[in-house]
Amino acid sequence: MTGTVLQVNVSRGGIPKRAIPLGELTAAGVIGDAWRYPFHGGARKAILLVTVEGIDELVSQGFPLFAGALGENLTTIDDADRVAAHYHLVLDEIATRGLGAEISVKPTQLGLDLDADACYGLLARLAERTAAAQSYLWLDMEGSAYTEPTIQLYERLRAEHPRTGICLQAYLRRTAADVERLRPLDPAIRLVKGAYDEPEKIAWRDRRAVDASFTALAVEFLTGSKGRPIRLGLGTHDVALIELIAEQVAAAGIARDAFEVEMLYGIRTREQYRLARGGYRVQTLIAYGDAWYPWYMRRLAERPANVAFAIRSMLP
Ligand SMILES: Cc1cc2nc3c(=O)[nH]c(=O)nc-3n(C[C@H](O)[C@H](O)[C@H](O)COP(=O)(O)OP(=O)(O)OC[C@H]3O[C@@H](n4cnc5c(N)ncnc54)[C@H](O)[C@@H]3O)c2cc1C
Repeated sequence: MTGTVLQVNVSRGGIPKRAIPLGELTAAGVIGDAWRYPFHGGARKAILLVTVEGIDELVSQGFPLFAGALGENLTTIDDADRVAAHYHLVLDEIATRGLGAEISVKPTQLGLDLDADACYGLLARLAERTAAAQSYLWLDMEGSAYTEPTIQLYERLRAEHPRTGICLQAYLRRTAADVERLRPLDPAIRLVKGAYDEPEKIAWRDRRAVDASFTALAVEFLTGSKGRPIRLGLGTHDVALIELIAEQVAAAGIARDAFEVEMLYGIRTREQYRLARGGYRVQTLIAYGDAWYPWYMRRLAERPANVAFAIRSMLP
């Protein structure tokens, strides 16, 4: 392939990637870009080339894309209003069709980094609609810059709107304290290992340490809140970890249906069925919409084997 590189975009994690006037390309990726780190896929997946024609074609199909700026963070608060309006429609559908589904939103998609109060206002209206639809509103957890503002949003939200939950990341060293801080609210927590490239100072980077933190957080939350109206979702595909947690809480008289197992649509499907047959409450999270692409790219980057899996599933 021959051509001219028109623009180079980098980011320390997440999207949009910003254009830089001059970039240094090495065998390990572009200097200053987090995709070169093993956590995001490493050197073999460090560079994504997008053709101008490819972007033009997607734009002509109605996707509002431009080089490097495709993603979840928003540019104006009007975008947040549009995202919220979309979720209101989704909740209408959930209610009229009696789907029993729940929704999960990224606070930055509702303008958290533009105007936290406006973001709270949108979430509060969504939470009202969620309750009317007998659904549940979950806040996803993004990079560590958003941990504290997201927890603050949830504290405000949960005080007024009980059908709301928050995702917490087991790799963050602060999470045990966050669970304790939220405990008086009888919170709904979705526990995940964590998907962003966080520094050693604030996060465990070693897999075993993350797994140990995940287990301890789940077991302590369940045993310490026994009898309380809490919810705990284990957002992981790590079946061994799920079964270990079930075993440890069983010793305290807590059944495996006291928590939920939450996996991504299409990942470890057979295990999802097996766990459901074995008495676990299994839920599947489905990503969709304009921002599915960067989201899915992050999931692929976490596990390069998924690239082959995704390609195979697209073949006739
Ligand atoms: C419902 C849900 C919600 C999430 N929400 C957030 C969020 O808000 N914020 C956030 O930071 N992260 C979120 N994540 C992502 C999470 O933090 C992890 O990055 C991701 O789930 C991969 O880690 P794991 O727990 O599945 O375990 P891993 O240790 O990565 O994997 C355990 C085992 O599961 C299998 N496996 C794991 N992932 C895959 C895969 N993609 N394809 C095939 N097999 C796989 C493998 O066999 C692996 O050995 C969410 C995940 C889920 C399931």
